[in-house]
Amino acid sequence: APKVYVFGAGRNEGDASMCDLLGGKGANLAEMSRIGLSVPPGFTITTAVCAEYNRLGNRDLPLGVWEDALVGLREVEAMAGLKLGDAASPLLLSVRSGAAISMPGMLDTVLNLGLNDLVVEGLAAKCGAAFAYDSYRRFMDMYGCVVLGMSHESFERELDAVKREAGVEKDNELDAERLRALCARFKGVYREAGLSFPEDPLEQMRLAICAVFDSWNSARAIKYREVQKIKGLRGTAVNVQAMAYGNMGDTSATGVLFTRDASTGENRLYGEYLINAQGEDVVAGIRTPEPIETLRERIPEAYDELLRNTRILEEHYRDMQDIEFTVQEGKLYMLQCRSGKRTGVAAVKIATDMVREGLVTKREAVNMVGADHLDQLLHPQFTEEAKGSGEVVATGLPASPGAAVGVVAFSTEEAEDLQSRGQPAILVRVETSPEDVGGMAAAQGILTERGGMTSHAAVVARGWGKTCISGATGIKVNEQDGVLECGAGRVYRRGDWVSLDGSEGKVYDGKLAVQAAKMTPEMEEFMGWVDEMRKLRVLANADTPEDAEKARENGAEGIGLVRTEHMFFKTEERLRSVRRMIMAADEAERRKALDEILVFQREDFEGIFRAMRGLPVTIRLLDPPLHEFLPEGKELEDLVGAISLETSVPRQEVLQRVEKLQEVNPMLGFRGCRLAIAHPEIARTQARAVLEAACNAQREGCEVFPDIMVPLVGSRAELANQERVIRQECESVMREKGTRVDYKVGTMIEVPRAALMAGQIAEHAEFFSFGTNDLTQMTMGFSRDDSAAFLNTYLAEGIIAQDPFQTLDAGVKELMEMAVKRGRKQRPDLKVGLCGEHGGDPASVKFCDSLGLNYVSCSPFRVPIARLAAAQAAV
Ligand code: PEP
Ligand code: MG
Repeated sequence: APKVYVFGAGRNEGDASMCDLLGGKGANLAEMSRIGLSVPPGFTITTAVCAEYNRLGNRDLPLGVWEDALVGLREVEAMAGLKLGDAASPLLLSVRSGAAISMPGMLDTVLNLGLNDLVVEGLAAKCGAAFAYDSYRRFMDMYGCVVLGMSHESFERELDAVKREAGVEKDNELDAERLRALCARFKGVYREAGLSFPEDPLEQMRLAICAVFDSWNSARAIKYREVQKIKGLRGTAVNVQAMAYGNMGDTSATGVLFTRDASTGENRLYGEYLINAQGEDVVAGIRTPEPIETLRERIPEAYDELLRNTRILEEHYRDMQDIEFTVQEGKLYMLQCRSGKRTGVAAVKIATDMVREGLVTKREAVNMVGADHLDQLLHPQFTEEAKGSGEVVATGLPASPGAAVGVVAFSTEEAEDLQSRGQPAILVRVETSPEDVGGMAAAQGILTERGGMTSHAAVVARGWGKTCISGATGIKVNEQDGVLECGAGRVYRRGDWVSLDGSEGKVYDGKLAVQAAKMTPEMEEFMGWVDEMRKLRVLANADTPEDAEKARENGAEGIGLVRTEHMFFKTEERLRSVRRMIMAADEAERRKALDEILVFQREDFEGIFRAMRGLPVTIRLLDPPLHEFLPEGKELEDLVGAISLETSVPRQEVLQRVEKLQEVNPMLGFRGCRLAIAHPEIARTQARAVLEAACNAQREGCEVFPDIMVPLVGSRAELANQERVIRQECESVMREKGTRVDYKVGTMIEVPRAALMAGQIAEHAEFFSFGTNDLTQMTMGFSRDDSAAFLNTYLAEGIIAQDPFQTLDAGVKELMEMAVKRGRKQRPDLKVGLCGEHGGDPASVKFCDSLGLNYVSCSPFRVPIARLAAAQAAV
């Protein structure tokens, strides 16, 4: 395969499809040249060469590359009508990096290459001495820094000294004489560093190419790829291109622009430029650039052509473009184009506008908006300025997106107290347990030292659309003393302010400015197309009538998981009944407590059925280990005292019953269907609550479709046992009520054995719902609550590519595929869905679509994202 691809003057050996090999910049330069835009001629050395260069590791170009580059150079010289190193008609080059994925500012670039003491004289004769020496000093500075590792400050010092002597402030106020003197001083900087400036332009070119390849493995580039999770790239390409000069006087300029407003999406040019400047001046912020519209008056012809080009490029790429350009003495040159980064609002506006303008089809438009864009639209965010000036004091997992600002609180009581005084709170805990839900509800945001993406805090926070950062392992939380220690000696106590960015997992010092979530008419139109295109249904996980309403507003087509136990914490009274059930000495006592539970559960379910009229509601029977509902310490003593008093059972005995409930490994302990098999009255009561609620709602004229779901099943016998109990109870309710309800009995698939034995289990299940939180935990053997510490290492070391609690792991997928196949073989009309946190993860949703699942279910706030992912999977 060729190592070098030439472009320019309508020629192109490469094109836009070759991004992997030529990098984004190289591929698009070739493409722009192909479609007739004016691009300075050049050639691209491939990313494959970079890989080979770095593999060899001897800082020498691989065999044959230099020869091919020289052939490329001859062609560029012919197209430009100039020659590298020829003082009579000098060609100057830019040597730029360009990987397949843009890594802004991370890789190296050298401009104005080809100058030496002789060539600069020739350039001066042709283009003026000021321009020539300005270019020369820029080159010596950049070359020294990038290729020879010299410090920019050593050049900057000389520049400042010359400006002082001349009595001027700005670089471009220096005259030719001063600039010539500056170049002489720069030579001195090289000598002082014990280096010699290479006068041979070919030597300059060879070393600059090597330097760009070297920059692929610079510390900052490696770090950037790590942070951005950029993997699987071969390296950077190198683009060697004839210079276009934006610094040739007042009809020259350089600038950058987006073809549409990247922040609002409005169809107008959005960009800026500098007259008489080179590209790095815009980035360096030495002078303030002017808004792009004013170029129309300054250099009208170039502006008109630029405007035409933006239309050509948008039509060609069918997307908003980010463009770099230079105007040299009135003539426009295109230096780069790529798909432009944009905000969530802009993404939706651009996609819908482009459909209206006939530029893209609805199908294409659906792929122009990303999950991160929708996420932005659905949650409040910090303003860009606020983030820019804010100080990050800790980082953790971005467990639930959005922006939260508040006063730190270390317990539910503190958070509730702050709330009642109208003060926003940030609940800070080592980790959260179901007992903290009150505080979580009262807080604006949640920060935990431990816990992963599916830890309790994360799941609950996402369900409520509340900002959460979990697993911030660098902080130390002392709940007793109310002290939060962040790195670098930062300490926060009750009353101190912090800001959480749950989208990025960053904790900021103090109060940051927030902007509200934005919902636009374009968004509704766009989501309409999304729904036309998807096959997979999207349901929501919701535990209350309010959450169900929210889910429905967000487009949920039913409830895929009601975690009944979440409602146990709603009031003190409810919790008391639950605790009595747990601590009951005998069945009679338990029954009494269960009768109280029946009443409030029925009420919850009625509310949910009403909110979801006409749509399926999947209600899961009690799942967590019972001791999760018991208090600790002093509160527990009080409870034991009260129960002992009421039931006249000695305190000691009551306490013993509680101690018996303690487990070493509760996640694999007495939970899920194991509870209801040991205490059938629990399942019976819950089934009754569901069916009574369903009958009541139906009587009001509300169409109901209850699905009763058994958790943590691993065998046919377990489900058979539960199915019998549930159906018996349901039948009695319907007899009592003198009516019938169309209900189903099914199971979670969350124990690996259940996936394996899915054929047998399907004999008793009318539906399956993959509980991929537990299925991942048990398949990987990674605790969902305690994995953050080592998962970070695993990710950094490349031992795993993604957090398996966020995106389905390959092994878990294998089990799912098997379960679907075996389950549907036994029961062809088996309804299959997924209700773990993966239901809101686009990559996992895509997999569910390919498996032919009927639905995914996720938190109400993720529903639009899952709808989009399902549509993108289908188009
Ligand atoms: C699961 O395990 O994926 C699930 C949905 O249940 P929970 O998160 O309540 O354990
Ligand atoms: Mg589970």
